Amino acid sequence: MPIDATLPYDESNIFARILRGELPCKKVYEDDHALAFHDINPQAPQHILVIPKGAYVSWDDFSARAEDAEIAGFVRAVGHVAREAGLVTDGYRLLANIGRESGQEVPHLHVHIFAGRPLGPMLA
Ligand code: IMP
Repeated sequence: MPIDATLPYDESNIFARILRGELPCKKVYEDDHALAFHDINPQAPQHILVIPKGAYVSWDDFSARAEDAEIAGFVRAVGHVAREAGLVTDGYRLLANIGRESGQEVPHLHVHIFAGRPLGPMLA
């Protein structure tokens, strides 16, 4: 179900449970500020999710409440994952669904990394 990003953070969401080790994931990378893992339903040959470790629903929530070190750490983690996965030469796409009209399903901020095939034009 899409969520309303203005709602309070829901500690039972699936990514919060992955962060707490209650659910498994195919981990790609982890550091103090971020966790990256393969999407369970990949939409491209490479489909990786990168999430901040803090409890943030949306980009606006994250950018308003997170410490500078958390924001820098998350941004660096996305770049690190793209480099380490070998995506830099052919390119990749970053996507973050935020809130109800975007179709955000999991109410913990996440950036999708898509790569491994021509990705076509952006969605309208
Ligand atoms: P959203 O629509 O931007 O919120 O994307 C949520 C993504 O999480 C979707 O691409 C799902 O396939 C993915 N997803 C849901 N549950 C899991 C899981 O347990 N592990 C990895 N990815 C998941």
